[in-house]
Amino acid sequence: MFSESASPTLFFSRNYREGRQRFREMCTAKGLDLQAYIHTDHKGPCGEDLAIDCAWFGPQNAEKVMVISCGTHGLEASTGAATIMQFLHSNAHLELANNTALLIIYPVNPFGWAYDRRGNEDGIDLNRNCLDHTQPYPVNAAYDELHPLIKEAQVDPDGLETFIQAFHAYSAQHGLGRSIGGITAGQYTYPNGMSYGGNALSWSCRTLYTIVEEYLRFAKKIVMVDWHTGIGAYGKPYFIMDDPVSSRAYAQAKDWWAPHTIHSDDILDGASPDYSGLIIRGLKKKITSIGDAETLCVVIEWGTYKVDEMLQSLLLDDWLKANYMTDNSLVDSVRTQLIDRFCPQDSRWRDAVLSQAPTLYQSAITGLTHW
Ligand SMILES: [Zn+2]
Repeated sequence: MFSESASPTLFFSRNYREGRQRFREMCTAKGLDLQAYIHTDHKGPCGEDLAIDCAWFGPQNAEKVMVISCGTHGLEASTGAATIMQFLHSNAHLELANNTALLIIYPVNPFGWAYDRRGNEDGIDLNRNCLDHTQPYPVNAAYDELHPLIKEAQVDPDGLETFIQAFHAYSAQHGLGRSIGGITAGQYTYPNGMSYGGNALSWSCRTLYTIVEEYLRFAKKIVMVDWHTGIGAYGKPYFIMDDPVSSRAYAQAKDWWAPHTIHSDDILDGASPDYSGLIIRGLKKKITSIGDAETLCVVIEWGTYKVDEMLQSLLLDDWLKANYMTDNSLVDSVRTQLIDRFCPQDSRWRDAVLSQAPTLYQSAITGLTHW
């Protein structure tokens, strides 16, 4: 499928359909066991199945498991997916120790990848959805204030610039922490708004809980890497953890991935949004509920553009949520911009990702071996 001399950028798939087919072929060729969790209510744009594919390599009752996932934010999937394809192509999974297994979750949000959206089929940000929906939702008063500004914004270049100016005016008055938190921390009041966490557990999160029960019940030590894109310097990895800097998991991550900085209480430009409903937080809880495994969960972002541009990208994504089924040139233009902002076409960016990813995987394998 991939020759040794081929450009590494070939590991990037053009869309979900191609990405899914190539992943399944790769897993079969490399001896991984596949299981598909197919969405019963939705299909892709060409009528194709939408599925979370799980691939497993290693003993069923492995004491240690390395879990790799991508595409929590659908359209970010292609980058994490490319690193996974490269990882399997290079046979790096064969370096896992005897008591260790690999679980790949590909992707968490197939609808979002198929339709070039960050959110899922219900317009939900899955990374704000993984919480107990029987409890009162966290309040996000800053979002209440920012919502009209978001809904009034236009998505042409002038409109995007106006939005950023208005956002900065709000930040100057209320502080960057409050404004960034308002937009990104999650909200449960406006289904048509940004960072909407839903009012029930999504299909993807329910499926992830099933996957934890089916695959991780024997594990004692679990490292989980969830690939994202958008935060950080162009073409560089950016580590985010939900655990406090005083935790065992944080110290471990710092050691395994040295000299990279692990961001926990300093996530963005000095602001640290108090995120609600994070998937890694939900999965850790689920793992704890079925056994006594220790976990080390990290999000690794691949940086794309500067913060202002990424805030504009969140606006574009929010706009596309209401318009993605419309067929016109503005929708096409927004979709093209969005894809590029979360997965740049620039081959230098893609080469940069694929030249660094193997070391990051290797660090996880080595860390897990000695844990
Ligand atoms: Zn993301």
